[in-house]
Amino acid sequence: MNIYLHNTLSGKKEEFKPLKEGHVSMYNCGPTVYNYAHIGNLRSYVFADTLRRTFEYNKYKVNQVVNITDIGHLSSDADDGEDKMTKALKREKKPLTLVAMREVADKYFGKFKKDLKELRIETPEHFPFASEHIKEDIDLVEKLDQGGFTYKTSDGIYFDIKKFADYGKLGNINLSEDEQSRIGLNPEKRNSRDFALWKFSWKFNNELGYDAPFGKGFPGWHIECSAMSVKYLGPEFDIHTGGIDHIPVHHNNEIAQAVSAGYPYAHYWMHNAHLNMATENGSEKMAKSGDNFIALKVLKKKKIDPLALRYVFLGARYSTPLQFSWEALESAHTSLSKLRAKLREFDTNTESLSTNQKAKIKEYKDEFNRLINDDLDTASALALIWELTKNDEIENKEKKKLILKFDKVLGLNLNKKTTIKIPEKVENLLKERNLARENKDFVKSDELRLEIEKLGFKVKDTEEGSVVTPL
Ligand code: AMP
Ligand code: ZN
Repeated sequence: MNIYLHNTLSGKKEEFKPLKEGHVSMYNCGPTVYNYAHIGNLRSYVFADTLRRTFEYNKYKVNQVVNITDIGHLSSDADDGEDKMTKALKREKKPLTLVAMREVADKYFGKFKKDLKELRIETPEHFPFASEHIKEDIDLVEKLDQGGFTYKTSDGIYFDIKKFADYGKLGNINLSEDEQSRIGLNPEKRNSRDFALWKFSWKFNNELGYDAPFGKGFPGWHIECSAMSVKYLGPEFDIHTGGIDHIPVHHNNEIAQAVSAGYPYAHYWMHNAHLNMATENGSEKMAKSGDNFIALKVLKKKKIDPLALRYVFLGARYSTPLQFSWEALESAHTSLSKLRAKLREFDTNTESLSTNQKAKIKEYKDEFNRLINDDLDTASALALIWELTKNDEIENKEKKKLILKFDKVLGLNLNKKTTIKIPEKVENLLKERNLARENKDFVKSDELRLEIEKLGFKVKDTEEGSVVTPL
């Protein structure tokens, strides 16, 4: 069955054509490990994992790289501001040394891996650390230097974007508009969008950095990704992913330097939309440096299954912006528990059906495959699963088998036994209803019953008191 993916490079949905039949190579821009990942970041990795699982479902062999940025990423993507890892060293009151930097990186890499496990994100084949690929970075900078693509300033070696005719093609960046906002930027740069391939040590601390023929320093963030992707996947590979914030700078820079070095590079560029947070003036993306930071561990403290977050993400296509809310997360937690409870009900088999259920099963399989292969339409795939739970033309045990097969793509651990958590809002409504009943206010009590039902729960009045169960 064909797979169709939206390619940011062409701006269109395209049929996926692998470089090597039955194989897919992909690079997912990984975390800068200077802090916990926030749940917005995790949307990127759930997306990459769903892509991976979709290929596996289609019997592809996957070679996946998620890099770990543990040096060289400045607080602005355009090479300005403070180095993020240096910032973490100061925050954690550690000495400004490469050894301490690696300690911080290892700490947050550990937290990141834990998050991936909680979200049932499959382990990629490679997790390369930027600090272990300095030689590859230096080789690439030298190659670009020899090709005449670079120039030197007092603080680093820069890529001259005027030497790459296709600069800005990814996402059709408007370069002329950008030129007008040069004021205040590094005056030594020839063009505001020229970017650092290498930054000299004095920018950080005289002691800190790696020796290189062009001067002691750090690789630029963009060169790290190109050097590591080419090392693990080769000069030409299938897919490169990241959040949409990477399109205007990071990914255009990666393409410019890799193609100028003679690599055909990635065929498909895919980007996930952001997880946004409501603000007083509207909405903004969740960011590590902002006040709106929510880590996965916060969900656990609130007794929300981390996979409820995965359920929220899958409820929209990866390329659709999502607005975060605790209500949506609570409701996803309930839906997930209900779906798991349904699967347990399916252990009690229905009597054999005389109708030809094989054809029906095939219809569901085909439809699921069509949806998931249509640029990962996970929202419709989830809706299809719910519809399947209600279909009485298929025996229970067959329904369960089919849903667990689909779960290989969704990764929701639907076979897990979970008790259904009653949301706080429902608990409060129940308390209010009990009070109304004590006061013999049956009109109010009936209204409250309806409100509880709207939230997906039914009220049962027993001799021991009233209880709620999922509808
Ligand atoms: P970082 O650790 O900041 O380099 O980001 C890791 C990944 O998370 C990148 O692919 C970003 O594009 C992505 N990302 C950052 N913020 C968000 C967000 N609010 N929603 C979705 N993805 C995000
Ligand atoms: Zn990257």
